[in-house]
Amino acid sequence: MPLVDTLGRPLRSLRVSVTDRCNLRCEYCMPEQEYVWLSRDDLLHFEELSRLVDVFIGLGVDKIRLTGGEPLLRRNLPQLVELLAEKPLKDLALTTNGMLLEEFAGPLKRAGLRRLNISLDTLQPARFLQLTRQNDLARVMRGIDAASRLFPGIKLDAVILRGVNDDEFEPLLDYGASIGAEVRFIEYMDVGGATRWTSETVVPRREMIERLTTRFGAVTAIEEPGSTAPADRYALPDGRLFGIISSTTEPFCRDCDRARITADGVFFTCLYATDGLSLREAVRGGESLEAVSTLIENRWHARRDRGAEERLEIRDRTAYIPLATLREHPHLEMHKRGG
Ligand code: SAM
Repeated sequence: MPLVDTLGRPLRSLRVSVTDRCNLRCEYCMPEQEYVWLSRDDLLHFEELSRLVDVFIGLGVDKIRLTGGEPLLRRNLPQLVELLAEKPLKDLALTTNGMLLEEFAGPLKRAGLRRLNISLDTLQPARFLQLTRQNDLARVMRGIDAASRLFPGIKLDAVILRGVNDDEFEPLLDYGASIGAEVRFIEYMDVGGATRWTSETVVPRREMIERLTTRFGAVTAIEEPGSTAPADRYALPDGRLFGIISSTTEPFCRDCDRARITADGVFFTCLYATDGLSLREAVRGGESLEAVSTLIENRWHARRDRGAEERLEIRDRTAYIPLATLREHPHLEMHKRGG
């Protein structure tokens, strides 16, 4: 019997955050000047992570995505990829901001990474600086260039903020087409850490489609029966494909088969969940893999999370977690649990 939660959702996909550090300070994710960081001693070692992944695979996981923070800041990350690449997985992917990709695209490919998502919100250097507090768009573009020669089917992920980068649909689509990458437009989410979030800044999926239709002509939705991918995919009249992730205005909790592990081994069953289960002691303290498996199984079995849908029901919605609470409970930050 496959492991399912209270809503019948299987556990298929695991996002592994390998660090909470990041080399950008994106306005929608890490807008503050200071953060409470995980202690280095608490980070799971690669062998511990590998064992934990084996347990998840035993429970039905067949897709792994490495994330963070910025995952390429984790020392020797290709070694972890090498360990994971040997496992029976349908997908082994990484989400990165591209800052270190020029150096790491080759080693990641050689280590066995299959797919890459690169976050790219703007093609304008001054805007990149404004959004990320780093004047490094050229470096990211060199990284994307290096990666696109090695990895087919790269996805470029752009969080769209009204009044900030919502005039870049077309340039991003053009750039994506020029390197054979599919662009995905992401609605601004009020996840933990998005302390500047306002509903006015969100550009809803409906409006994205309207704007793209006005510019290019009728946009066709692509039917993908059985897909649990977060993005809905569309085709422009010229055949170009793109995706929209509408977690804010049209959430898809009912299909969510994703679990998350923070770099220090806390297991979360929803991006919005406030109660994580630390597996670090069990993994580090030499508990049997069966015992660790039972902990995860019980958690998933009891899972009721519909975080994004519950947020949608709130009127006068503002930032999800106040700054003072984030300081006290840093695991509530998006950059701790991985996007
Ligand atoms: N540093 C890596 C990166 O930038 O891709 C991986 C971690 S980052 C938290 C993962 C993804 O989450 C990125 O695509 C980022 O744009 C997205 N993200 C972060 N905060 C978000 C928010 N408030 N709303 C929507 N997406 C967000």
